[in-house]
Amino acid sequence: MENYDAIIVGAGPAGSSCACLLSQQGVKVLLLDKANFPRDKVCGDAIGGKALSVLERLGATEELRQKGFQRSSGLVFSSPNGSEAEIPLASANSGFVCKRRDYDNIIFQRAKKACTAIEGAEATDVLREGSRICGVKVKMADGSLQDFFANVVIGADGATSLVARKAGVFSSKAAHTCSAVRGYYKGVGGLRGNVEIHFLPECMPGYFWIFPLSVDEANIGVGMLLSDMLAHKKNLQKVLEDCMKNKRFGSRFSGAQLQGAVGGWSIPLASAHRACSGNGFVLIGDAASLVDPFSGEGIGNGMLSASIAAATLAEAAKAGQVGEEKCKEYERALWLEIGNDIDSSYALQKLGKLPFLLDVAIGKAKKSEKLRAELSGMIASREAKKKASDPLFAIKLLLS
Ligand SMILES: Cc1cc2nc3c(=O)[nH]c(=O)nc-3n(C[C@H](O)[C@H](O)[C@H](O)COP(=O)(O)OP(=O)(O)OC[C@H]3O[C@@H](n4cnc5c(N)ncnc54)[C@H](O)[C@@H]3O)c2cc1C
Repeated sequence: MENYDAIIVGAGPAGSSCACLLSQQGVKVLLLDKANFPRDKVCGDAIGGKALSVLERLGATEELRQKGFQRSSGLVFSSPNGSEAEIPLASANSGFVCKRRDYDNIIFQRAKKACTAIEGAEATDVLREGSRICGVKVKMADGSLQDFFANVVIGADGATSLVARKAGVFSSKAAHTCSAVRGYYKGVGGLRGNVEIHFLPECMPGYFWIFPLSVDEANIGVGMLLSDMLAHKKNLQKVLEDCMKNKRFGSRFSGAQLQGAVGGWSIPLASAHRACSGNGFVLIGDAASLVDPFSGEGIGNGMLSASIAAATLAEAAKAGQVGEEKCKEYERALWLEIGNDIDSSYALQKLGKLPFLLDVAIGKAKKSEKLRAELSGMIASREAKKKASDPLFAIKLLLS
């Protein structure tokens, strides 16, 4: 029987960041993952601005720069009728495109130095003391079962979170889940360091992405709300193939070679607003369903939730005083921080389903430098994004 201040289940970007930030404050942390690192994770691999600010606090930004991962110099959007607008990003807001096998391992190795980390260790149940969750049952790499106890259990175990299910707060609705597939391709033409998002007729109501990993390799995928995918009876792998054959892209992919297999996974969106705390536990990252409902970005909110959990729980975890109210305090702080942003993105998700609006908006951005600058600002500033999600903004755009 071993006791810790905090047990974190799952060592993805959310769990490993939380382990680093709690350890920095003197919290005795046990970090568990069923996988052995480095491990792959199906993703678009785009690391945006929200993640950068936490990476900076982990001291990991320099390592990403030094390893030469692709910086995103701008965004390219194209509309169903083929209009294309390029929006440059100020260097302060430019993220990375980095394979998750590498990205997650960089953060995990930092966590491993800072706390007790066990790989090949799968949590199979939570342990309770009365109604309070006080630990986890773990299947170790050698097949044995071991119990670990802590003042607080942090579920960072991804979209199908065991901690969320065992704690009784898991829910999954097709209207708040995105389904997505991606493949790595070498020999792709026309890559210029831009993160590309294309609203093609083949993948509406969803989008096709091309995220560059180097001058000729890219992460290429499509994503769509699960409810839309079911309603339109779409097979996403076929949709991806159709997008790559679209006449605007055919020449860029004529020499492209798939590396490995196309993989898919589900993305739990924050528009679901899942409960993420209770007696003795909190959830962070995908386990808490925190992915941006417009862009599909989850790494940023995952790492942000990790930093909010670390800030809220550190002192109480060390003192052995993590009551239900403390865990609820994390949930309130989290939604105070991200709530408006999520509401804006949810409104944008609905507008983004309207092909004529996308044609008009992207067509106008193509022609107007002022609008491109405004959109660039929206990517950097939450206030500006709020304005974009206002239906009045859409009407003004249509009439301007
Ligand atoms: C196709 C696709 C494209 C995407 N593109 C992007 C993108 O470009 N940018 C972006 O920001 N987001 C993207 N996302 C979302 C992003 O992948 C997730 O939001 C992100 O991985 C969440 O991080 P996390 O740490 O919460 O969970 P995860 O990265 O899923 O990590 C969870 C960890 O928990 C471990 N685990 C699970 N169960 C257990 C258990 N029982 N016991 C022990 N360990 C366990 C797993 O092994 C894993 O290491 C995409 C998702 C998909 C599916």
